[in-house]
Amino acid sequence: MKTSHIHILGTGTSVPEPGNAPSSYLVKIASKAILIDSGPGIAQYIVNEGYHLEDIHTICFTHIHSDHILGLPEILFGLIHDNHIANHSINICISTNYAHFIEDELLKAWHPWFKKYQHINYRIIPVFSGTNILIDDVLITPFRVNHHESSLGYVIRTGSSSIAFSGDTDVFNINEVEKHNPEILFLDSSTCEPNKIPGHLSVQEAVRLVSTTSISKVYLTHIMPGERKKIVEFLRKRGKISVPEILLAQKGQKIPL
Ligand SMILES: [Zn+2]
Repeated sequence: MKTSHIHILGTGTSVPEPGNAPSSYLVKIASKAILIDSGPGIAQYIVNEGYHLEDIHTICFTHIHSDHILGLPEILFGLIHDNHIANHSINICISTNYAHFIEDELLKAWHPWFKKYQHINYRIIPVFSGTNILIDDVLITPFRVNHHESSLGYVIRTGSSSIAFSGDTDVFNINEVEKHNPEILFLDSSTCEPNKIPGHLSVQEAVRLVSTTSISKVYLTHIMPGERKKIVEFLRKRGKISVPEILLAQKGQKIPL
């Protein structure tokens, strides 16, 4: 049966945490899948969850920090050396000004291998805030966030479902994402105040940011390991008071679309 869902592959950061993985999400639509970010270890996590690397037809990178992008060579090498795969191509969506980074920096050392194995290809798609990219009935719309100059959030729309991923971000103009009417938003929430990492939302800021929006469900993610308990406690005290419903994203969780 063809099913659509989001599979949370990890909710972590660049700081390793037992049992977790860097923030990454597999959006499965019918028989194909889109990845939002691919941090280190991603190829193994994908297979651990019962998928195949060739299920992935598109990767949307929120930005070029290591915990979001280092899994790309792992995926490409995994595809190259899998004898069962006759032909496969992956679209790579990345901020326009950083499109060169993939070939000129990240994958440079391995170009000879990728050239030799021509049955596996990738296509870099430079994107910017507000552009619409249509890939196999899936509409991908990047939006502006506030983290690094390469940073973008993404709205993924398919059929009647619309899901948004902020990637790492500090306080930003929530209208940038709200105007696309997502039902679900995955939102950075790295710490609990008084702790604050510049470039990232605290859980208090994240809750304030979405409290007046029409988004009905928000999953907090990209949690610093030492902050998880405090964030859980903060959300428990907040209680089930109002829209939006605010939940903590869990590694391995499958959310039907
Ligand atoms: Zn990160």
